[in-house]
Amino acid sequence: MSVNYLQSYLESLHQSYANINEGEVANYIPELMKANPQWFGIALITVDGHVYQVGDSRQSFTIQSISKAITYGIALEDNGIEAVLNKVDVEPSGEAFNSISLEPDTGRPRNPMINAGAIATVSLVRGDSPDEKFYRMLKCYERYLGRTVSIDEDVYHSEKSTGHRNRAIAYLLRNSNIIERDTDEVLDVYFKQCSILVTCRDLAMIGVTLANNGVNPITGVRALNSHYVPKVLSVMSSCGMYDYSGAWVYEVGMPAKSGVGGGIVAVLPGQFGLAVFSPKLDERGNSSRGIAACKKISADFGLHMFRTGRSTASSVIHASYTAANVPSKRNRNIEQTQLLAELGHEAAVLELQGELIFASTEIVICEVLKLAEHANYLILDFTRAITISDGADNMLAGLIQSVSTQGKTVILTGIWDKYEMVRRIKKAIGHTDEMPLLKCNDIDSALEWCEDQLLSEKACAVSEAPLAKQNYLTGFTVEEFEILESMLEQRVYKEGTYLCKEGDPGDYLFFILSGQVSVTVPLSHRRHGRISTISAGSAFGEMAMLDRGKRSADVIADQNVVCLVLDYNRLEIDTSSLGMSIRWKLVTNIGRELTRKLRQATLEIKSLRT
Ligand code: GLN
Repeated sequence: MSVNYLQSYLESLHQSYANINEGEVANYIPELMKANPQWFGIALITVDGHVYQVGDSRQSFTIQSISKAITYGIALEDNGIEAVLNKVDVEPSGEAFNSISLEPDTGRPRNPMINAGAIATVSLVRGDSPDEKFYRMLKCYERYLGRTVSIDEDVYHSEKSTGHRNRAIAYLLRNSNIIERDTDEVLDVYFKQCSILVTCRDLAMIGVTLANNGVNPITGVRALNSHYVPKVLSVMSSCGMYDYSGAWVYEVGMPAKSGVGGGIVAVLPGQFGLAVFSPKLDERGNSSRGIAACKKISADFGLHMFRTGRSTASSVIHASYTAANVPSKRNRNIEQTQLLAELGHEAAVLELQGELIFASTEIVICEVLKLAEHANYLILDFTRAITISDGADNMLAGLIQSVSTQGKTVILTGIWDKYEMVRRIKKAIGHTDEMPLLKCNDIDSALEWCEDQLLSEKACAVSEAPLAKQNYLTGFTVEEFEILESMLEQRVYKEGTYLCKEGDPGDYLFFILSGQVSVTVPLSHRRHGRISTISAGSAFGEMAMLDRGKRSADVIADQNVVCLVLDYNRLEIDTSSLGMSIRWKLVTNIGRELTRKLRQATLEIKSLRT
């Protein structure tokens, strides 16, 4: 297999940046001095779960300050935004990580990414005992990392026995009632959280989980409520790199957090998590190689979060067509087909794709309003819409409301996995049960429903059709019709039973007198794709008459079905001139119908490509 460009890029970056030797391994926690200064790992994980890693990406080290971001998320989940803000502000301090940066009057720490704020944040984690608090933290790490974690006991004891400055900070916080309980208990949990063992790959996993709206993209497990993800990323981007935060955002342009263990995690929301590990720190306590590598990667790939390559959101429209060009897969009789060719433009389909955010949803609004000038039925398909932002669903709800008040019918399809959007739209619109709005599974059933409405408006709906109305029997003389009729055998199928299965021998032509069947093919994941629906007045099984091949799909009764079946073998043995004429007319009619279908398919392909 050829080498992945991104992997070789990271390998050569790793090789050249391994020469950077500036900085010192942290020494104020004695145990940290044991780190090998040459350790150097880089890991990048995309929101699609692709992992790239080089160097010492599997070497464990203590997470240190990076834990502050995780704990801040837990505190928000446990207490809500307001209660947390009451105790810890979100202003960059512009000072070192261990500075005593407290608001003069309240004693509130400046932000949760410096020690003072982080110690206060630990006290906000729910739990009756320090052990319970820490247990809950570990459980949270498991959700971020997809594995269990433990702490480095030596680093923990080393910091606990020397962390006097943090103790002093905790006492100040206790004094101003920012911490409301025993400082030793809070500090113990703080020292433990700093000693959690992670690898560079783990940090990238934390990063990508935040990039992926709080869900670990590999395990699918949610680690942080999506509501709080932007809050955690905000403090990371304004305060995550201590007194280097401003310059970091300016240059690298990604929310990030560093720790004195030598780790840095950076997040590009919606795209990836990036982590670099190398223990030599600059004078601000950030990994020297880490900063250099992140700067380079950001510059080489144009990753600054404020940089946007997007100049139009119009790619949100995957396809736009009407039932005139792309009708439903339901077989209709000649009269209905002709009527629908004239009326089909009244049912329009808009297939959406990608991200529905403010700008792309605005395009959808404009497009729907344009279509609504001619169409009375509007089908919006979300099958390919991957994300729908909170604001976008409000915009869509508003759109549906205004279009509906003009007397138009809106139908949403492909929404089976869009629970949140459906919930909000239902809430905004109310009384959805009375509308077809959310009732159709896919575009085809929505189109079929619209066509049925159009036909019944013109009193052209049929539920039963005598044999004489069959398309394949046009041009038959009375005599020919009677002979054919005498060859037919009546069959009745109950709703839900199969008329034939894929692979069965194709010996019969089925004329449907009443009811309806669906032609389906099995797809992956036990799903079925509907190829067409055939109802009273139409027939199926005709391809086998021409090639005597096997059945190419399953046919299942959607309702109780009455049909007349023609055994091809029986028809073939009748070599009289009447028998020959019957066969000739049948073949001609079938040929004409197949040609019509082929022309229709060509038209569809054309409409879907433009
Ligand atoms: N445990 C360290 C401390 O409190 C964490 C500091 C850091 O990583 N910047 O000193």
